[in-house]
Amino acid sequence: MRLNAGAVCAGGGSYVNKTGHWRTFIPRVDTDKCNGCGICYTYCPDSSIEIVEKTAQIDYDYCKGCGVCAHECPREAIAMEEERK
Ligand code: SF4
Ligand code: SF4
Repeated sequence: MRLNAGAVCAGGGSYVNKTGHWRTFIPRVDTDKCNGCGICYTYCPDSSIEIVEKTAQIDYDYCKGCGVCAHECPREAIAMEEERK
């Protein structure tokens, strides 16, 4: 995308620019530990987490692997693993 000085991007760009390929580490949710509290959903900077049927689900098209969710989860239900591509 080419931007001129002072340009303002059109809305919705974060849907187009999938950030999942940035990952070095990938979060995995332990569904036995997760109680669907939504704290990870609140903290995720990429809005890549949904709570579905009281369990966190991660959209790997957009999750960039920052690990904030794993750090904030009070039940230690998210583990960061090395991404295998
Ligand atoms: S913060 Fe932890 S327990 Fe809460 S919804 Fe997220 S993964 Fe589940
Ligand atoms: S690793 Fe970062 S981007 Fe991915 S779901 Fe967790 S908080 Fe969101």
